[in-house]
Amino acid sequence: MTMETLPSTAQSAALFARARAVTPGGVNSPVRAFRSVGGSPRFIREAHGAYLTDVDGNRLLDYIGSWGPMILGHDHPAVREAVAAALTRGTSFGAPSEGEVRLAETVTRLTGVDRVRFVNSGTEATMSALRLARGFTDRKFIVKFRGNYHGHADGLLVEAGSGLLTNAEGALGRSAPSSAGVPEDYARLTLVSEYNDPAALDALLAERGHEIAAVIFEPVVGNAGVLVPTPEFLAALHRVREHGALLIADEVMTGFRLSLRGATGLLGLTPDLTCWGKIIGGGLPVGAYGGRADVMDFVSPQGPVYQAGTLSGNPLAMAAGLATLEVLEGDPGLYTRLEAYTARLAEGLKAAAQDAGVPLSVNRVGSMLTAFFQDAPDGSVRTYTDAARSDTAAFATWFQGMLGQGIYWAPSQFESIFISAAHTDTELDATLDAARTAYAHLG
Ligand code: PLP
Repeated sequence: MTMETLPSTAQSAALFARARAVTPGGVNSPVRAFRSVGGSPRFIREAHGAYLTDVDGNRLLDYIGSWGPMILGHDHPAVREAVAAALTRGTSFGAPSEGEVRLAETVTRLTGVDRVRFVNSGTEATMSALRLARGFTDRKFIVKFRGNYHGHADGLLVEAGSGLLTNAEGALGRSAPSSAGVPEDYARLTLVSEYNDPAALDALLAERGHEIAAVIFEPVVGNAGVLVPTPEFLAALHRVREHGALLIADEVMTGFRLSLRGATGLLGLTPDLTCWGKIIGGGLPVGAYGGRADVMDFVSPQGPVYQAGTLSGNPLAMAAGLATLEVLEGDPGLYTRLEAYTARLAEGLKAAAQDAGVPLSVNRVGSMLTAFFQDAPDGSVRTYTDAARSDTAAFATWFQGMLGQGIYWAPSQFESIFISAAHTDTELDATLDAARTAYAHLG
């Protein structure tokens, strides 16, 4: 690649300069700023299928998928038509509407939970589920795992993953809390254990189990890069209930992405509460939490745990979510196709890296994948500490090489990429061609 072939990004750079004058860091969510990989973020004008077009007119093959929601690809006709139809009936009612009932019926039927409550983001979902668990058990403490990310509520910004791993100076390995502004008094109520370390969880439960309201976890981690739970760790999670604590699966990323029953369905886990977001909103702002009737009926107005939302159950978001789930349910081969693409992508990335002499360790499940720049056998990166051994400088160089060739990879070593139904063999071939070039510049 030479300077002459690099695409123009002048319009993005100009917008970023304007944005920085009026918005902290120029973005409305930290990982979008490209801090860990350098350079200016692309400002996106439109998105269709597997592609984004930036404001300079560059076409980018998208592996971020809006950080997970766009499993059908961008601008899917069924979703667009459902939203357009809903739009003709009004944008918000502040009163119950049929769309909420239909989406709740669909989510409960597909996932097996008894009740679901819609909110507006994944953060609200996990925050509300934890309040509910505390109200239901009348206990204060919660357990989370190092490098798991559950949104930005105070008590969850403790040893958190995602942008906290990517952006905060020295955040790796730092003790709680992960963000300024989170009082130690809040962080103290969050006990942290190591993902995929069943002995550590057992020990924590043995000592403090009687005080713990809930254990919240990503059933497949996306926010430290992809981490897959071991059978031993899953067995330890099953033991949580023996201590009277609730098990909360955060399926904001994995729900409807790894299967219609999410990651927990694949793994044979039955949590007490589950949190969703991303895909159930079809690209509009939504979150949800749900679970057993006896627990969920503790939520107001049925029960004593308060939780509310001006825009919750928004008719446009319900329509987009319902259309997305209908397409997913109506295409039984879809998850197999997504997995096949991801498997071939993993093989191709490995082969290209090997040819170039670049160490690479791939973790993947379904349509989620992280290629860690480190010399470990595939699948052996299991914890936040393992992931942190990656060569982030090499990743950044490779990322820039990919972006220069129009491949829009997640701008951090500690994120998953997301394959959509709009990714075909054409996209796979283009990605692997670009990857070969990008590795060659590293080797
Ligand atoms: N939980 C998980 C597993 C996530 O990946 C995220 C966001 O990436 C969240 C919660 C927070 O969701 P939101 O960004 O919609 O608040």
